[in-house]
Amino acid sequence: MGLTEAVAGNSAGVDYRLAREATLQAWRGGELATEQVCDAQRELRRNAEFCGIDAGAPCPVCERDRLVEVTYVFGPRLPRHGRCVTSDKEMARIDARKSVSQGYVVEVCTECGWNHLTRSRSLGG
Ligand SMILES: [Zn+2]
Repeated sequence: MGLTEAVAGNSAGVDYRLAREATLQAWRGGELATEQVCDAQRELRRNAEFCGIDAGAPCPVCERDRLVEVTYVFGPRLPRHGRCVTSDKEMARIDARKSVSQGYVVEVCTECGWNHLTRSRSLGG
């Protein structure tokens, strides 16, 4: 099982595909400017470079193959700004804890800065 599947999980997960589609549709329709949807901040871009995993699809905005998924986990004993998780092993370790953490997968294009939350679920507990 890959890391992103680990976050997708099978229960209590939230899928943000509809919100993502709505954002893209607003952008295609001209209601949102490119700089409004491609607003990845420096920290997110940096994390995308270092802990991003190939999303396996081109960027929906610039269509380059630079789309990656970054997994963040927030919870007790983790940094306040969340931890960028890069391995299934680390994910499994957090999931095995008694304390509940929240995992978020954000897709980011390292080319144009497009970014959107794709899914989340709780871990541990
Ligand atoms: Zn892009």
